[in-house]
Formats: sequence, structure tokens, C-alpha cells
Amino acid sequence: MSDEFHMTISIPADDDGYVLLQCEHCGTFFKATPSDIEDDGVLHIFCPSCGLVSDSYVTEDVIELARRMVENKVNDMLYDAFKDLERHNKRNSIIKFKAGKRPNHEPEDPIRSGIEALEITMFPCCGRTAKIKPLLKMTGAYCPFCGVKNYEIE
Ligand SMILES: [Zn+2]
Ligand SMILES: [Zn+2]
Repeated sequence: MSDEFHMTISIPADDDGYVLLQCEHCGTFFKATPSDIEDDGVLHIFCPSCGLVSDSYVTEDVIELARRMVENKVNDMLYDAFKDLERHNKRNSIIKFKAGKRPNHEPEDPIRSGIEALEITMFPCCGRTAKIKPLLKMTGAYCPFCGVKNYEIE
């Protein structure tokens, strides 16, 4: 058994290719495409609602999924360790280890990529698109890519 393990958590994009982000300041959900988020021309991602930059836009769903994956992995490792002990103790031991049943896994649900009613919005300042709440389109929204406030967005 190796002491290390690696996990990859993929954040699924929705049907239009947008991934879900959440502002850590105001909790607003919005979506952008990975190609825009990772573009070298985009230095920061601004919240379309409060206009602030978050250190992390990872949603609570992602954190929860990571927690479950670690928990499941640790349970498996413990189980395997006990299984080993059980096997080694078969023959001539007074102490018996019983590993019992393999632990049930908590479901590792793919992250809900569908957050209700976000609409694709074109930010003319950058020529990039994001998905934001329709209400923000009416009140004006900060461009996630440059932080400029846009009014009456299409
Ligand atoms: Zn915000
Ligand atoms: Zn912009």
C-alpha cells in the first residue's frame, strides 16, 4: 500500500460549456467558460454582483465533494490495513482481527452544474460572456473579466 494518493476533482461544465463559480463575499453564483477564466488576458475574476475579487471561487459543493472523496479514501485505506492484519493473523495468533464489511461509500455526486436561471450575458467591454442572474442584467453587472460595471446588458 502506498502512502500517497491523488485525487482529481473535475468541475463539470454545463451544456453550454460554462462552469459554476461562487463569490466568497456575497455568495452570488455565476458561470464563465474555462477558456475565459484561464485566459492570460484575464488577471482577476470579478463578482458580477458586488464587483469584488475573491481568492477562491470554488463553490461549497466542490469542497463538500472533496471532503467526501477523502473520507471514502481514508475508510478504504483503513479497511485494507485491517484486511492485511486479518490475513496475517489467520494462522497462529491469539488475537484475531476482523475487518468486517467494506465500508459503504458516501455518494460522490457530480457537482450540480445546473444552477437555476443563469443567463448568458455578453460583456461588451471585453467581448466575453458569462452567465449571470437575469436581475443583474437589469440592475447592471460588473464584468467578471475587467471589473467594469455594465448597464443595460443584452
Ligand atoms: Zn460578490
Ligand atoms: Zn470587461
